Amino acid sequence: MPPGGWFSRHKPESDLPEGLWSKCERCERIVFVRDLERNLKVCPHCDYHHRLTAWERIEMLTEPGSFSEWDADLRSSDPLGFPEYPEKLEKDRQKTGLTDAAVSGCGSIGAHRVSMGLTDFRFRAGAMNSVVGERLTRAVERAVDERLPVLLVSGTGGGASMYEGILSLMQMPKTSVALARHHDLGLLFISLLTDPTMAGVYASWASLGDLTLAEPGATIGFTGSRVSKQAQAHVGRRPANYQTAEFQQDRGMVDRVVPRKDLKATLEKLLDWTA
Ligand SMILES: [Zn+2]
Repeated sequence: MPPGGWFSRHKPESDLPEGLWSKCERCERIVFVRDLERNLKVCPHCDYHHRLTAWERIEMLTEPGSFSEWDADLRSSDPLGFPEYPEKLEKDRQKTGLTDAAVSGCGSIGAHRVSMGLTDFRFRAGAMNSVVGERLTRAVERAVDERLPVLLVSGTGGGASMYEGILSLMQMPKTSVALARHHDLGLLFISLLTDPTMAGVYASWASLGDLTLAEPGATIGFTGSRVSKQAQAHVGRRPANYQTAEFQQDRGMVDRVVPRKDLKATLEKLLDWTA
């Protein structure tokens, strides 16, 4: 785990003194970084749930010191020779300290060992390439071998990464088949949808949870707003705010929208009940 405590890597995007203040991305009010951190990066004014990094999420959900990372040595190749893809990967590695857009490993939530995989929006918008798919698949396969519950946390704007073409698309059935094997053993898979969960990620592993939780206000859907506006011209009206966690909960696609402060306790309870 990277050094430092809660959100030690947070950099407020404003011209105010760094480390003291931050501006809420939604209500644009100024908040003390310290208050934001204490509130798990949820705006105390408007309840906006700012995005967490994969490691912040791990720190928030698992018992201290219990998480051990898997498959950190996996690296994406450049199968299509896509212009500037290796440079973009390297830039995001430098920016985030991650090796790719997902972190996987095993950690304890309460008394339960859980196999976990989490995407990180800061790295290529959390898009699923071959490394992301492989890390998540291996996490599920280890859970099958060791009879562990699985928690996958999604946060991607891009779905399957276009930079790796069909290899990215292949991660959709690959992760889904691994989860089907896990499901057939009667093991628990909890999917936690965070802002945003879109496209090929939502259309594969993120929507396959035995239990599906979401953070308040998270954007959840298949197509982005530009495509869905074009589709609207052909299929007629669409409801307002239909790509939100709350709308999806009302329609039964999400079991429960859980405020961030309640997430760990909720997961512990669910794991207790299903153990
Ligand atoms: Zn706010």
